[in-house]
Amino acid sequence: MALTINDELRDATLRHHISIQRLSNGIAEQMRQRLEDLETNVVSILVDRQATVEGSLDSSRLNFLLRKLKGEIQDNVSEMQAALRQELKDLSRYEASFQTRMLNNFLENEIDAPLASELNALLGEPVNGYLLKDAMKSFSDNTFNAMKAAIQSSISQDGSLEDVLASIRGTQENNFADGVMARVNNSITRTASDFSNSIVNDTASLVFDDSGEVEGEQWTATLDTSTCFECMALDGEIFKVGEGPEQPLHNGCRCTMTPVLSGVKPSSKMRFNSWLKTQDAETQDEALGPSRGLLFRKGKVSVDRFTNRKGMTLTLDQLKKKERSAFAKAGL
Ligand SMILES: [Zn+2]
Repeated sequence: MALTINDELRDATLRHHISIQRLSNGIAEQMRQRLEDLETNVVSILVDRQATVEGSLDSSRLNFLLRKLKGEIQDNVSEMQAALRQELKDLSRYEASFQTRMLNNFLENEIDAPLASELNALLGEPVNGYLLKDAMKSFSDNTFNAMKAAIQSSISQDGSLEDVLASIRGTQENNFADGVMARVNNSITRTASDFSNSIVNDTASLVFDDSGEVEGEQWTATLDTSTCFECMALDGEIFKVGEGPEQPLHNGCRCTMTPVLSGVKPSSKMRFNSWLKTQDAETQDEALGPSRGLLFRKGKVSVDRFTNRKGMTLTLDQLKKKERSAFAKAGL
């Protein structure tokens, strides 16, 4: 079957999305490296002040130490914020030029890339309700509070410097997953990737809107077993530009939007569902869980039936009321 223009657009968008993911992973990695520097500096502050760390809780020396730590964290986070902002700016320019070039491959009348001022305005948009500076401020506060709690709880239990360092860095036996730094790392990784995804999507919508040639945006989920039910169900849906659910839809959401050109038949719906049908039972179970895997195979339940209209995932009990015959066929 011949590919329609919109199928070609979708394939180009998906390939491009992989390189965007790589860039945004690189941005998150850069933030984590900056956190390693912070960790080194925090450790040296604590080592220098061993007497305070192993001293009494109410001393003014402790307050002095905490102020010093707070200053160190704030300095680091403000550098991270400036670096992240610059990266997001570059990412947005890259996305704008990609989408403009891609559309120009398919359109009769060439369109221009968005103006720098339009792109800069996107950087001021909130993500998950937070402006970048607010997200970084709360990241800084949370990092400080977690370290402060680790120090105070160690002191109140007459712990040693080593105890404090272990609760901040984590312990080798738990692969360092039990320390403050592991949580802080996860948090900055999420923030960086949510802001990256969001600026990419906003930039693409801006290009689509400005072009006057894009009729809609088609929700395009990643075809693998980590995609959540909500995103599976949305996959293939077409929205007016900028009017679909905001991406990222949830923490770690990897979905993208493919432009649908005016007057051209959109790419076929329910892409995730058709893809999953071509996979083996083990992969289907990994994506859906064992019961829903059976329903999908034997009960012929499509992936959009696992959520309600609002996108909430239905429990198996709720699903049973809706899909009685499918449950019977699946032997559940
Ligand atoms: Zn998603």
